[in-house]
Amino acid sequence: MSQRGGGVGVIGAGVVGLSAALRILQEHDGTQVTIYANRFSPHTTGDGAAGFWEPYAVGDTPVGDIVRWGQETFEWIERLAQSEEAKESGTFYVSSCHIYHEHVEDPIWKDTVHGFRRMTGNELLHYPGHTCGFAYTTVMSEGCRYVKWLTKRCKTLGAIFIQKEISDLAEVSSHDIVVNCSGLGARELVGDASVFPIKGQIITTKAPWIKHCLNFDDEGVYMLVGSQNVYIGGSSEKGNEDPTPDPDQSKRIWNDITRLVPSLCGAERVGEWGGLRPGRPQVRLEAEEVSLTNGEILKVIHNYGHGGAGLTLHWGCAEQCRRLIDQFYEQ
Ligand SMILES: Cc1cc2nc3c(=O)[nH]c(=O)nc-3n(C[C@H](O)[C@H](O)[C@H](O)COP(=O)(O)OP(=O)(O)OC[C@H]3O[C@@H](n4cnc5c(N)ncnc54)[C@H](O)[C@@H]3O)c2cc1C
Repeated sequence: MSQRGGGVGVIGAGVVGLSAALRILQEHDGTQVTIYANRFSPHTTGDGAAGFWEPYAVGDTPVGDIVRWGQETFEWIERLAQSEEAKESGTFYVSSCHIYHEHVEDPIWKDTVHGFRRMTGNELLHYPGHTCGFAYTTVMSEGCRYVKWLTKRCKTLGAIFIQKEISDLAEVSSHDIVVNCSGLGARELVGDASVFPIKGQIITTKAPWIKHCLNFDDEGVYMLVGSQNVYIGGSSEKGNEDPTPDPDQSKRIWNDITRLVPSLCGAERVGEWGGLRPGRPQVRLEAEEVSLTNGEILKVIHNYGHGGAGLTLHWGCAEQCRRLIDQFYEQ
């Protein structure tokens, strides 16, 4: 790859920006990568997310992209989960079920997870009123550990971190190329009016006897097993801009999940968290030549709008950013 001296600028230090930066640093020794953000870990959206691998709230993103990015991310997390980095990165396997009232078609991710199968009638007897279910093994990249781990890896490989709100791409035009991973911030940064928040909230519990994830999509609640905690969700409010947990939502989530899973009743509630998923009709991952306010042309790779699946798709997206950067430097 031929260098041009300005290096790569990445806007955003969430799971999407950090993974894009890490992928460039891994592949291109000597490329200076500078990460700009107004919020760093532990204050990004991914820090509060459970980190369950499963495509969710990605709008009309083409199925082929979801499956490819998701598969590459699954394989990356799986490698970490089998390595000596597993504990620090918060990566591990979990067993999981999805349970429904009525028949549901196989999901698009059934060949990515391990051991996907339909639950038997006997298994479903534990969930009255539910006649369909899937069981499988998936992976977690637990947000509270994984985003910190990505930050540390980027620092170790020489990334420069600058805390700054970028209000105009001209501010970063000294770089050869800029990767825009600003999530919800893309609304203002590049004037993308199609980006919208999808508020979600979870209750963190201590329930060490719970070893298995359960998702009740018809009721909109789930129970996900973390390394120390069990995460109870969830909610999905399009257009709500306020990340503060809503007590009424918490009450609904708690009542519904303990009705469906009575064994959770003795769990100690240790926290609540709300966050804004960066929604968009489709994930935006493409290169663009942007005409700047100062008259220059800047090559930008947009990588934002991952909705409820940033931890599920990030590594595949980072790999695509890396390829686009290679193409740019080869021109
Ligand atoms: C309750 C909840 C549970 C979730 N659970 C899961 C899950 O289990 N699995 C899963 O895959 N996903 C989950 N998600 C979704 C996931 O958290 C997001 O998709 C992901 O965190 C988005 O990452 P991001 O890096 O794009 O955005 P963010 O984490 O929001 O990061 C955006 C970054 O850009 C920076 N930025 C923005 N604008 C500017 C600017 N103008 N100048 C400088 N910096 C800027 C911000 O400071 C920040 O660093 C969940 C989300 C919520 C809310």
